[in-house]
Amino acid sequence: MSADTAAPASPAAGSTPLRRPASVTDELVRRLVRRVSSDDSSAPWPLTEVYTGDHVVDLPQSTPHDIERAFAAARAAQVEWAARPVAERLAVFDRAHRIFVDNAHLTTDLIQVESGKNRRMAIEESCDPPMVMSHYLTRAKRLLAPKRHGGPVPVVSSSTEIRVPKGVVGVIGPWNFPFATGISDAIPALMAGNGVVLKPDNKTALSPLWGIEMLERAGLPRGLFQVVCGEGPDVGPTFIDHANYVMFTGSTATGRTIGERCGRNLIGCCLELGGKNPMVVLEDADFDEVVPGAIFGAFGNTGQICMHVERMYLPRSRYAEFRDRFVAATQALDVRAAYDFTPDVGSLVSPQHLARVQAHVDDAVAKGATVLTGGRARPDLGPAFFEPTILENTPPDAIHATLETFGPVVSLYAYDSLDEALALANDTDYGLNASVWGTDLDAACAFGRGIQSGNVNVNDILATAFASKATPSGGVKASGVGARHGDQGLLKYTDVQNLAVLKKQVMGARPGQSQDAYVKQMLSSLKLMKRLRVR
Ligand code: NAD
Repeated sequence: MSADTAAPASPAAGSTPLRRPASVTDELVRRLVRRVSSDDSSAPWPLTEVYTGDHVVDLPQSTPHDIERAFAAARAAQVEWAARPVAERLAVFDRAHRIFVDNAHLTTDLIQVESGKNRRMAIEESCDPPMVMSHYLTRAKRLLAPKRHGGPVPVVSSSTEIRVPKGVVGVIGPWNFPFATGISDAIPALMAGNGVVLKPDNKTALSPLWGIEMLERAGLPRGLFQVVCGEGPDVGPTFIDHANYVMFTGSTATGRTIGERCGRNLIGCCLELGGKNPMVVLEDADFDEVVPGAIFGAFGNTGQICMHVERMYLPRSRYAEFRDRFVAATQALDVRAAYDFTPDVGSLVSPQHLARVQAHVDDAVAKGATVLTGGRARPDLGPAFFEPTILENTPPDAIHATLETFGPVVSLYAYDSLDEALALANDTDYGLNASVWGTDLDAACAFGRGIQSGNVNVNDILATAFASKATPSGGVKASGVGARHGDQGLLKYTDVQNLAVLKKQVMGARPGQSQDAYVKQMLSSLKLMKRLRVR
């Protein structure tokens, strides 16, 4: 099937004009943007509703001086916050959990207005911070408690591992999951006793600002969680120079810039970056599950999930069967702008991003790829709509073959052996997520263990790994450094003080003892201590 014969991706939009959700009032958005640290000396950013392109609010932009003020205010509030008992800090998040869940629909409205994603994805995003709160509410107290260890000399010495907050953590977030990255990544930092300064993407600042308002309703001290706004390269240097740690989510290119500056400043950072994630379908996979999985993997969040799938590998014997079912299911998708749960797929985030996605498709087609369905912008649906697109015969030199397109575009490939499938899955600079499908779970897990990727989902695309908050989740290779979730997702926001105590000075030669005798005694006690410890 060619682009000319491909069916339209969705029915046309209904005739009723789209109305912004009634909950997203002018009063609300004006109140939210007043939280941005800004003296209003810079021209504001016109934040728009993605589905219509209509102006929503002028977002203040932060100068270097505004950024310094934000860090100073967060630092002042952090001293009192860190001095509180951990249980008192956690009580704020216990209350916040309920507030977040009770307000999930308003959060979802804001996310949809600013990002254009469909409502099913937006409400799932609204659930991420409560899930992170739940997890760390059960873990944080134990993780932050001082841990006493034995010292080098039994009985008379000890060493205590004390977790000290870093100070003020800078969180930089992308537009694709603004609420989840802006708020969820700040939660363990705050629980650990830090202040936070967030720099959201200009396009999607409203939902994280709303998240901070909800945290303050739960009792988070005002001033502890600050927001600065601006274009990344303008804000970045001053922001990083004032942070004690940087939590960054975004593209690999920006991650490198941020990592370099953090390195020069000798501060730590966690970099959660891009992916070019493979989905490998094994011979025994159940297509009744694989096809809906593939639809979500390629087109969920309009293909704008860091862990989504842009490369699908099928056994040659089942390639045609999968292709035909996948194309048919894609053509049945309801792609549309709506603030209800009916559409399957929403908009891309902006016309600028649409141009990038279109350029990747055009480049692949010019180099020999075949469009099985989709491939076109849909201005009739909204300014940034693009059809769910399936390609085959994508040549290795196409941009889409190796670089993240970050849109609803996927390429299909056939493989002849498992070794070939594994080599193809690993033939990438990235290592964020992989998805493996098969009914023999042992075989699927054995295959998955061979993939060089921080996350591997068996019989799922990404949610099983991402929602497992007890396990660290991060990228390897060019997909990042460090991880969120799990114990390290909180401990990374702390320094360790090793408080070592010697009750009596027993190290070194006793008065009158020769050096030879002392060394002999020390070496034999080394053997004794190993025997005691190993036992
Ligand atoms: P981006 O790197 O362009 O921007 C991310 C954030 O960094 C934005 O707030 C931006 O303003 C800011 N920024 C840009 N340049 C900066 C600089 N020099 N200094 C400081 N800040 C700067 O990424 P994007 O296009 O907004 O987001 C999409 C990318 O994010 C994709 O590559 C996607 O895979 C990735 N992502 C990764 C994860 C993950 O967990 N691994 C999650 C979501 C998105």
